[in-house]
Amino acid sequence: MSASEEAESGPTQTVVTLDLEGVLIPEVWVATAEATGIEALMRTTRDEPDYDVLMTQRLAILAEHGLGMDEITEVIAGLEPLEGARSFLDGLRATTQVILLSDTFEEFARPFMAQLGWPTVFCHRLVTDDRGRITEYRLRQPDQKRRAVKAFHGLNYRVLAAGDSYNDTTMLAEADAGFLFRAPPNVIEEFPQFPALTSYDDLFGALEENL
Ligand SMILES: [Mg+2]
Repeated sequence: MSASEEAESGPTQTVVTLDLEGVLIPEVWVATAEATGIEALMRTTRDEPDYDVLMTQRLAILAEHGLGMDEITEVIAGLEPLEGARSFLDGLRATTQVILLSDTFEEFARPFMAQLGWPTVFCHRLVTDDRGRITEYRLRQPDQKRRAVKAFHGLNYRVLAAGDSYNDTTMLAEADAGFLFRAPPNVIEEFPQFPALTSYDDLFGALEENL
């Protein structure tokens, strides 16, 4: 088969894109709030729809409590992936290619990646000053999850995707098959087109079926 015929017959190789927080690891800010006892860090995108406002508040709260990157890294290092996440991910990575697409930051993801066997993660980045204070956050690009799926399509991959929240739905819609995993009831209700699953076994089965 020539290269052009191959392209016309459609992609036959598949990549899986997975959300991170809520799917493989706990919500980082909520877990940090619990670990530090700083109630104000409990606010999430569900309370504050403007992400810029929310992140600016979060960075101000960290500064107010004298928490820099070192302290946050230490807090996060004490947290663990969700129960069963590592074996689910290991099994999936032994079966197909897996890319984690997350709206968290490299610095926050890193301790979890160590515990998850260093999978590939595409996310954003924080800016710190020479004293380790977090001064700024930088989104690599807006709507990066959907744009990553589009890019994989451009590389002639089929894409299967799973996530738990609003910021995953454009990724799920762009993918060849999308699944909600442990999504809150409001998300499940608003996006009935995506099968809603709650166990790693069921998610693994659904992904495997679509490979
Ligand atoms: Mg999530």
